[in-house]
Amino acid sequence: MEIAIIAHDGKKADMVQFLNKNKTILLHENIKLIATGTTGSKAENAGFKVKKLLSGPQGGDAQIAGRVAEGKTKMVLFFKDPLSSHPHEPDVNMLIRICDVHNIPLATNEATAQLLLNGLLVD
Ligand code: PGA
Repeated sequence: MEIAIIAHDGKKADMVQFLNKNKTILLHENIKLIATGTTGSKAENAGFKVKKLLSGPQGGDAQIAGRVAEGKTKMVLFFKDPLSSHPHEPDVNMLIRICDVHNIPLATNEATAQLLLNGLLVD
């Protein structure tokens, strides 16, 4: 199962903490992580194997939206920073829309991301 992780700059430390907290689930052989570039580098530094796409502002969110549309990515965990503005906001909104179009679970904050991962355990 392919899971995409994305974190805005103000949330990258929280994302790494979240990944470490959920190591048992995320290191499972059936889980494949993909990420926007900088988020992916942070995850790699924390010891996770991640397929890195372009950085968010360079089109990484759009690439993830493409993978959702193609049926490859099955879950998106996006730690959005609501307290700062982003030049690639249109891409972010497009990703959210594409997840809705294809009924793909999308978390935009840590609490929801945790519930989604917990849901995998139930499955
Ligand atoms: P980044 O992109 O992981 O390359 O920083 C995240 C984003 O801002 O969409």
